[in-house]
Amino acid sequence: MKIVIEQSKLQKERNTYQQEIPYSVKCRRCKEEALLMVEVLDNEQLIREQRPVDVRVWPHDALVIHVYLCTHCGSMKATWNQG
Ligand SMILES: [Zn+2]
Repeated sequence: MKIVIEQSKLQKERNTYQQEIPYSVKCRRCKEEALLMVEVLDNEQLIREQRPVDVRVWPHDALVIHVYLCTHCGSMKATWNQG
């Protein structure tokens, strides 16, 4: 499990198992720019192993989570994809 918080690294390159991940996205609440604040890279499938019984959706492979923060209104957004 690796957590990336350094803005210099996040601006330069984002880990992903699928599509390219943008450094910023449009905030759903105020429509301003939300910046990538944290990236969680779970290439050991530790989160997959925590699957609760009877859930419909859960990662089934290594995954990466990106958490965005709108620096205008404080709203957060997370996205994820898996191998
Ligand atoms: Zn916002």
